Amino acid sequence: MSIAENFAQVRQQVAEAARRSGRAPEDITIVAVSKTVGLEQVEEAIAAGVTDFGENRPDQLMEKHDAFPEVRWHFIGNIQSRRIKDIVGRATLVHSLDRVEHLERFEQRAAAAGIVVPLLIEVNVSGEASKSGFTPAEVASVLDGFGNYPHLRAHGLMTMAPQGMPDAIRRSFSGLRELRDALRPRFGGNVSLDELSMGMSEDFAVGIEEGATIVRIGRSIFSEGFISV
Ligand SMILES: *Cc1c(COP(=O)(O)O)cnc(C)c1O
Repeated sequence: MSIAENFAQVRQQVAEAARRSGRAPEDITIVAVSKTVGLEQVEEAIAAGVTDFGENRPDQLMEKHDAFPEVRWHFIGNIQSRRIKDIVGRATLVHSLDRVEHLERFEQRAAAAGIVVPLLIEVNVSGEASKSGFTPAEVASVLDGFGNYPHLRAHGLMTMAPQGMPDAIRRSFSGLRELRDALRPRFGGNVSLDELSMGMSEDFAVGIEEGATIVRIGRSIFSEGFISV
């Protein structure tokens, strides 16, 4: 299967899941996670109609963004303070804010560049020790802090589901949606919480059924022969 065929199939599965959840296919953003491939495959994906890409390393974000600035680049990886300068101005959306200390650094860089940086708060809904992200109970106080950062905007929440356990996957996605629904009326200004980034190759259909507005899909688009749900 080519990247174009894979993407067409993913798009169709996304559209079906969107309809099952009472939404239109256009309401879901597909982020093609290109972390395992090079510039040539990115070019192929752009030709196939991909408009949003995801990277989890700043070096790769820089290289690919700077080669293809006409598409949108999402940062989905672990954030290190010293690399925030490389992310600001390149990432359309940062999905993985998991430390309050990073907000100050993002604010400084965004203010210096004269831009607003869109962020999602990463939440460890399942509570697995191996996962990063704030606990659900911490999120409200993280969002309270946004009042101090006029160059940042909290657009929503992101989570990673536990691998391979269908009940636990669905619970972590519905848990993120319920958390968002509970918090949204309490905030305004630069905290809007419209976006839920949840679902990868194995579980994006469940993510959409539970309210995802953004799915992050790597292997189903870029690996040959990967069978997704
Ligand atoms: C790699 C990665 C993905 C994509 O995973 P696939 O299983 O390849 O679809 C999504 N989100 C994050 C944070 C990732 O690191």
